[in-house]
Amino acid sequence: LLTLDGIVKTFTQKRGGKRDVQAVAGVSLTVGRGETVGLVGESGCGKSTLARLALKLIEPTAGRIVFDGEDITARHGRAMLPVRRRMQAVFQDPLASLNSRMTIAEILREPFDTHGIKLGAALQPRIRELLSFVGMENTDTTKLPPQFSGGQLQRIAIARALALEPDIIVADEPTSALDPSIQAQIVNLLLFIQRQRQISYVIISHDLDVIGHVADRIAVMYLGTIIEQGPAAAIMGSPWHPYTQALLSAAPTLAARRNPEWKRIVLTGDPPNPANVPTGCRFHPRCHLARDVCRQVEPPLRPSEDGGRLIACHLAPEETAEKGRWIGQAR
Ligand code: SF4
Ligand code: MG
Repeated sequence: LLTLDGIVKTFTQKRGGKRDVQAVAGVSLTVGRGETVGLVGESGCGKSTLARLALKLIEPTAGRIVFDGEDITARHGRAMLPVRRRMQAVFQDPLASLNSRMTIAEILREPFDTHGIKLGAALQPRIRELLSFVGMENTDTTKLPPQFSGGQLQRIAIARALALEPDIIVADEPTSALDPSIQAQIVNLLLFIQRQRQISYVIISHDLDVIGHVADRIAVMYLGTIIEQGPAAAIMGSPWHPYTQALLSAAPTLAARRNPEWKRIVLTGDPPNPANVPTGCRFHPRCHLARDVCRQVEPPLRPSEDGGRLIACHLAPEETAEKGRWIGQAR
């Protein structure tokens, strides 16, 4: 349904002398119909930029975006409208993403207005239907966003995203601004919607547990590139890339903590900075398995022997897999 092909996004940083910073450094990713792709990585790894590129809210410096067989890379303005209708977004902070001076009714009719869809007498029932679909059936639609809780607002934002019956929703950290008790409800709502509607998702999160729960396929990003990609069960069960291993070990489940083999892989070195990308493997200054070659040669993202995943590391999967074995087991 959606293909990102060799996407690069360069920003010009003005502070401290003009220079180009690559926020996304050549990412290829496909999302199938009804599929959920989870994009995970630390803040600053380029995942939000990639989301905005996929939604065509910003333009790529290089690469192609293909939606349902059509190259939409060069489409702008009105030419993007038919695509926008089918590709919707949910953001981290629902209060910021919903206009706080508009009533809930106005917020939910806006997508129809934008796309010139006149529902007439069917509009109010449609708004009711959308709200009840996201578990907000008794909402007073004359209220304003600040009168609702974060969890309720995220439900309303999801209702708005569903209004035009999109084929895909890109959700950037949809739960991370919410209370932990509410996060699971929103995740379950997204899963419920998918079962009902066969929608595709790109879900972006720094939280591997959220991603592991919702995604069919996971892509792990580091400093603007994907360093490991594969079926969610495989990645969560036995992470191969040293960075994925470190991420998973840093977020242990209760069961993991009880496992005698559990130990956290502590990332050393500076946090990643797109203005200062290391030579060779961009993860090498923090990698617990780094060796000489890693400092000089950037490892390509290549398929595993069984073709099941992609991994960018000089070490053979057998070597790293053995190191990561306990992590998957501990979960
Ligand atoms: Fe670590 Fe080297 Fe693999 Fe990079 S290529 S992840 S530095 S072992
Ligand atoms: Mg972000």
